[in-house]
Amino acid sequence: MMNEAIPHLTDYSDATLDHAFATLEAEVRESAAAAAGDVEGFRLHWLGRKQGRLKLVSEVWLKLAPADARRALGMRFNQLKQGIEAVLEAPAAQSGPKLAALDVTLPGIARVAGIAHPLVTTMQRVVEVFHQLGYSTALGPEVETDFHNFEALNFPPNHPARDTQDTLQVAAQGAKAERDRLLMRTHTSPVQIRTMLEQAPPLRIVIPGKVHRNDAADATHSPIFHQVEGLCVGPDITFSDLKGTLDHAMRSLFGAGVTTRFFPSFFPFTEPSADVQISCIFCSGNGCRKCKYSGWIELLGCGMVDPAVFAAVTAERRRLGLDDTLYDPARVSGFAFGMGVERIAMILHGVSDIGLFYSGDVRFLEQFA
Ligand SMILES: [Zn+2]
Repeated sequence: MMNEAIPHLTDYSDATLDHAFATLEAEVRESAAAAAGDVEGFRLHWLGRKQGRLKLVSEVWLKLAPADARRALGMRFNQLKQGIEAVLEAPAAQSGPKLAALDVTLPGIARVAGIAHPLVTTMQRVVEVFHQLGYSTALGPEVETDFHNFEALNFPPNHPARDTQDTLQVAAQGAKAERDRLLMRTHTSPVQIRTMLEQAPPLRIVIPGKVHRNDAADATHSPIFHQVEGLCVGPDITFSDLKGTLDHAMRSLFGAGVTTRFFPSFFPFTEPSADVQISCIFCSGNGCRKCKYSGWIELLGCGMVDPAVFAAVTAERRRLGLDDTLYDPARVSGFAFGMGVERIAMILHGVSDIGLFYSGDVRFLEQFA
């Protein structure tokens, strides 16, 4: 767009002014079409403070005009200006990038598809193994009552086993009865109690979920972590069923060559209780750095449901007006097991620092895509 000189007016008759402004209006239309979306260029050409066409028009026509012609000139000048502003405000002028600058041969912007977090996929993998054994998924709240989290699971008030779980208590619960006080659940086990209060045996449930403990974070601990827990209750469930189930589950998870072994252990809600080890998946039991040259990796806890747990469920069912014969310890038995999801994910993927799972570092996470 060239700035041609503004011709001087020979006189100030209506005819001369009509012609002069009509010429400029035609120029506005032409330059609007020629600008082809270059809104800023068009604006500078006409409204630029120093070299804009309107500025020149003002200097050559308005300022040199005799006083009696200025009013008519000024009105026409304002109309011309409004015409220019109308072009600038037209929707076409606002429409984003210039078409001429769009190169359709450029590579597109690849959108990265999200993936499930490695802890979620690990949890799903464990749950899937038990689904194939006929277990169904049960879930429960993370804010629990003392009753569901401790009391019904055979941790009575002041039981020393409660000290082993650094519990995050919800504030200002002092006015409530102890069993109703709220806390962040320290394990997924309260879902066992909730399910037995809602459903009749036989029962086979797998419970994935997030749990909270007042632990300082280090390479193997985190105040928030995940568990998958299982419960099987029926008329004739034995320790052999427990061993067979976990043996099968560990082979499904870690490979057909894996063997298991059971050690006596203690949990308040199971009796007898056991820790389960699997043969090292890295050295096939020959001994390596990852299994500390023992050939075994400790993976989960389990045991036969303590009759005291069935007794607590029975008492609570009675209190709630439900059938209190279903979980009579004389009529049912069962087993329970639980494992840490982070630990399994660390073993499966060779991760040495639990904090990596929570850091949100994409460089770490995208390795699981
Ligand atoms: Zn090993």
